Amino acid sequence: MKIVDVEAIWLRVPALDQPCEWGEDALIVRIYTDSGLLGIGETDSSPAVVKALIETPASHETCQGLRDILVGENPLEIDRLWKKMYRHCEYMGRRGVAIHAISALDIALWDIAGQHYGVPVHTLLGGKYRERIAAYGTFIPRPDEAGNRERVRGLLAQGLRSIKLGGAGFGEDLPRDKALLQLVREEIGDDVQLQIDLVGRWRNYSHALVQCDALRQFNLNWIEEPLPSDDTRGLAYLAERSGLRVSGGEGLATRHEFRHFLEASRPAIIQPDITRCGGISEMRYIYELAQLHGAQLVPHGFSTGILLAATVHFLAASEFGELIEYSQSDSPLFRGLVSNLLALEDGHVRVPDSPGLGVILDEAMIERYRVRT
Ligand SMILES: [Mg+2]
Repeated sequence: MKIVDVEAIWLRVPALDQPCEWGEDALIVRIYTDSGLLGIGETDSSPAVVKALIETPASHETCQGLRDILVGENPLEIDRLWKKMYRHCEYMGRRGVAIHAISALDIALWDIAGQHYGVPVHTLLGGKYRERIAAYGTFIPRPDEAGNRERVRGLLAQGLRSIKLGGAGFGEDLPRDKALLQLVREEIGDDVQLQIDLVGRWRNYSHALVQCDALRQFNLNWIEEPLPSDDTRGLAYLAERSGLRVSGGEGLATRHEFRHFLEASRPAIIQPDITRCGGISEMRYIYELAQLHGAQLVPHGFSTGILLAATVHFLAASEFGELIEYSQSDSPLFRGLVSNLLALEDGHVRVPDSPGLGVILDEAMIERYRVRT
């Protein structure tokens, strides 16, 4: 079997000159083979930049487009192809967006392999530990109390027993933050997990420690990115002295960045995004690193049903892959791009057993939202 073509598809709901919200654009890939098998992947990154990285013609040995690197190769040789891509696009970035592009292609290669062998990806990864995975839902605070109560009740109605809030200025005004957390705790009671996402908003370690002390009463499950990820010393102090579980890493890529993050920042939880960290292949190394450092891996995931399926297969085959983020986006790219989207059932996602990733794309939706440049 040989790869005959690689297609990078840029999808966007708003027009190019209109504002775009989280979840309203996407970059998906399709890898075509001479056997007729087709692999699907995606990366939650800058679609135009990723598309260019895939399509660009070669400049020289360490500056090659990813499509050219893959065409003619056997798609089943995933590890060798990952390293070939990493090496031959080295000058475009050994981290960041080049790894995002590799992540999408790696996921598509696993999809092909699963279909070829007639087994789900989680079987190729060593076998599933569970039939379903508990999910948590994220909500972005609204300006009004009634709106916030409605959002929280909507999450509980989905059966979720774990909730995260962040964004919309959360973390910038302590009295307002406390009032919001008080409201959420009133709605969810003491038994539902509650975590907060600061998106690196707190100023420095000592400022963050004051905030943590003030919010401790709300029994927080974790505090996500309280400081920017480069503030390793501040994060390590916070991990040691706040008494709260610090999480982060959704913007990091490769085992190398996660090793540094685990060693220098000492988070309790790391949150790689499978479509950015290097794909399914690299996520396996990152999971083992987390184990070696006594950290839990709870992936970031807020894009289409392709990302969701890849994350589900990975977590199903991970011994402690017990919690998944389930997007609350109303974007058609989440709700409808994958026509057999893995649904929430009583706050859990069922692990699929169809070959490969098992995703079916809605071709009409691709035609409707495809950006043609
Ligand atoms: Mg986050």
